[in-house]
Amino acid sequence: MKHFYAIILICITLSSALAQSETDSSRLKKIYDLALSQPKGYEWLEHLCNKIGPRLSGSPQAQQAVDYTKKIMDTLGLDRVFLQEVMVPNWKRGDKEIGRIIDSKKQKTEVRVVALGNAVGTGKKGIEASIIEVKSLKELAELGKSKVEGKIVFFNRPMDVTKIRTFEAYGGAGDQRRSGPSEAAKLGAIGVVVRSLTTSIDNYPHTGALAYQLNVPQIPAVAISTQGAELLSKMLKQDPQLKFYFRTTCEMLPDALSYNVVGEIKGSEKPDEIIVVGGHLDSWDLAKGAHDDGTGCVQSIDVLRLIKALGIKPKRTIRAVMFMNEENGLRGGVKYAELAQKNNEKHIAAIESDGGGFTPRGLGVGDERAFEIIQTRWAKLFVPYMVEIQNQGGGADISPLRNQGVPLMSLNVDSQRYFDYHHTEIDTFDKVNLRELQLGAAAMAGLIYLISEYGL
Ligand SMILES: [Zn+2]
Repeated sequence: MKHFYAIILICITLSSALAQSETDSSRLKKIYDLALSQPKGYEWLEHLCNKIGPRLSGSPQAQQAVDYTKKIMDTLGLDRVFLQEVMVPNWKRGDKEIGRIIDSKKQKTEVRVVALGNAVGTGKKGIEASIIEVKSLKELAELGKSKVEGKIVFFNRPMDVTKIRTFEAYGGAGDQRRSGPSEAAKLGAIGVVVRSLTTSIDNYPHTGALAYQLNVPQIPAVAISTQGAELLSKMLKQDPQLKFYFRTTCEMLPDALSYNVVGEIKGSEKPDEIIVVGGHLDSWDLAKGAHDDGTGCVQSIDVLRLIKALGIKPKRTIRAVMFMNEENGLRGGVKYAELAQKNNEKHIAAIESDGGGFTPRGLGVGDERAFEIIQTRWAKLFVPYMVEIQNQGGGADISPLRNQGVPLMSLNVDSQRYFDYHHTEIDTFDKVNLRELQLGAAAMAGLIYLISEYGL
């Protein structure tokens, strides 16, 4: 008899688990169907890129993007839409930059350069000096003051094109842009030229933020296109005495008031457990910020839209956040985490989409415990959509939540083309594919639905 009851019990447990996963797989199917058949995110992205355009922190366009995304979320019938005030850096690029190689015979060759974000300008006259090429910060340090003083330093280490995960290649070359200017200034350099961080060889300079160190003289710095970098390097080998000239009029103004934009569906059973999904609303001033990161913003709003439109009443609270100022300060992300702590909010997961709106390859989970749970329970549900659960995940804007023990996750996409466009004038709406964008929203909505239903 005992065995009989045990078998019955096992049968009931198994069949309810089966029924549950059937419901979950049909829910996921509905989410994907709706995302692909009513591609709202794509429409919103077009507005963000083509009607508003570049949205650098502190600019009028950044404010328009705040107003626009708030307005969209106001129409979705959410439980709460609100702004979080945040003071942001207010850097202005100024005039179009000039870059020029001047050989020993005084012949001039124009090359395309752009000021690095947060840099000081050269002043209206520009600067002209001998230029010395290095491949790394270490090589620069070894040269020492005698070889660097009074010169412009040219950092020319390419991104490692053999890396399949292009973000690793970006990470591997990024120290030149971030720390190069201050390290060069310590040795008496008067300016810095950095090879653009991209895997392609083209004529678009890629901007990006530098970080000046405290108590080190601030010197001007520009990024040169990869074609320009190759040319400069070649000419330097033939004519080491050549000079380089550049002119930038960028400047940092006092901080400006801006906002994170937040929309929320309250949980029906555990409203105090919050799942946050987000992207960053600001973009570089050169770029329309399509892949970086308009796509992450509209996908995050789309997660709420899909859940609402399907009549799903999530058990836990789901929030979409448009973070402000990821590009040149991360103030929005820092402020969000600060307020979460201050208000005693319990975040059980944070997911960011900031790798471009390309084909989803995985849902990345940067927390061991959460990865084990998600992998074991739900990986199968994503197989039909060719999305795997990966144990690498996170994002800049959500990273300040790590101190509060929040598992960080990301939409991991095919990143092969991302750095072709990243931080340039060609990061435009036409580079985003409707289906790829919508698949990303659906993948995140699927995972968030499951977490909201069962917790972590
Ligand atoms: Zn970004």
